[in-house]
Amino acid sequence: MNQVREKNVFVKVKRSSAGLGLFAVVPMNKGTTIIEYIGERISVVEGNLRNNRYIFNVSSRIDIDGSPRYNTARYINHSCKPNCEAINRRGRVFIVAKKNIKAGEERHYNYGQNYFEGLIAVHGCLCAKCTV
Ligand SMILES: [Zn+2]
Repeated sequence: MNQVREKNVFVKVKRSSAGLGLFAVVPMNKGTTIIEYIGERISVVEGNLRNNRYIFNVSSRIDIDGSPRYNTARYINHSCKPNCEAINRRGRVFIVAKKNIKAGEERHYNYGQNYFEGLIAVHGCLCAKCTV
């Protein structure tokens, strides 16, 4: 089962309404940890300089630059009515199922107000709730 760490077999990157998205391959129960948001750990100052859309703020001092493609979690799209949430466990960020999720369903979490106002609202949100 070492493969799970290398390549997450429970989820798959596919085309979605908002570009690429991350989809469940198997059903998942609420509370299941799906994937870790990984990348280079940098200072918030450095994060502000890089200013790419995959910078994840972890604490007042630390950001994760999740832009490398090995960070599968970067493919998870934003939703205003998400089925997952990003949880900070001692400075590491995990995407956890917020409800029971069926196989084949896209996963998404709420990127937070700052991200929404800075990078999403400008172009219009493409999540299911906003495009009904
Ligand atoms: Zn939305």
